[in-house]
Amino acid sequence: MRAVADRVKQAGVDGLTDAQRRADAARYQEVVCRSALNRVQGMPFNWTLNPYRGCTHGCHYCFARRYHVQFEMDADDEFASVILVKQNFVETLALELDRPSWRRELVALGTATDPYQPIEGHYRLTRGSIEALARGRTPTGLVTKGPMIVRDCDVLGDLARAAACRVYMSVPTVDEDAWRLLEPGTAHPRQRLRAVRELVDAGIDAGVLMAPIVPGFSSSRTKLERTIKAIAEHGARFVGCNVMYLQDGTRSHFMKFLQQEFPAMVPRYERLYARKYPPASYRREVQAMVRVLQERHGLATREERMREETTREETAAARTAEPEQVGFAW
Ligand code: SF4
Repeated sequence: MRAVADRVKQAGVDGLTDAQRRADAARYQEVVCRSALNRVQGMPFNWTLNPYRGCTHGCHYCFARRYHVQFEMDADDEFASVILVKQNFVETLALELDRPSWRRELVALGTATDPYQPIEGHYRLTRGSIEALARGRTPTGLVTKGPMIVRDCDVLGDLARAAACRVYMSVPTVDEDAWRLLEPGTAHPRQRLRAVRELVDAGIDAGVLMAPIVPGFSSSRTKLERTIKAIAEHGARFVGCNVMYLQDGTRSHFMKFLQQEFPAMVPRYERLYARKYPPASYRREVQAMVRVLQERHGLATREERMREETTREETAAARTAEPEQVGFAW
């Protein structure tokens, strides 16, 4: 305590160089955006929406860390503590959805930030976007780790009725040690699962993404089974999984984190992540294990759900000339 007090006396709080910055210490910078809908290629969807940049959830594996570098900020602390808020996002989106040229293609909301990180409680840009998407009859997939999403059950329901809406709650693991270490600013995984239950009970198509599974932290059979069992118990309508990949700023951040917290794991990670993804054989092994556990606990895979949905959509399309709903895979 004395040493800390001395450092603050000499250099102010900036002198606490090993202090962890948490969500409540974040800085929020309002910005004006020129467009809301962002066109992407090589994904199962063509458009993304991100009302914020940066994320106070601060997951160490977050692939969006590298995008912060585009704003001359680092992929480490600044990704989780300097958040850009696109203050005119909802109005801009509404104008874009109103254009006669808008073809109501599938939109993915929350690909480079969490749309329900705490600041959403103040700005409500995600809620406004969902309302605009419902008015624009635009099918949407939304990914989040934020239980705050249950606040928006009403507008998510409107969107589902107007077009289509699927919620992907990200719960990579229910293991508390892995959660605390890897996702320092997020809600407890079981709180997220309770949100899934609430969404499903409200008639929203909601499931879970176990993504990413992080080798050595959440990849053991025991941890996978506990997670899948908990997901099934909370009524998730589907589950999907992915093994972590590391690229650019995310790679350098994650390796720094390992070096600092678990130096003994570094050589293994260097071998496993010689490339962006671990070897295909490793990924196949994890996915096969997840598949067996899903079957054991009666959970549909995303693919099965999509097949069901396609059949349902084809039947519906034959009966009505309503707008097409596009399948969605994350
Ligand atoms: S919640 Fe999502 S966007 Fe936010 S840091 Fe974690 S992985 Fe990244």
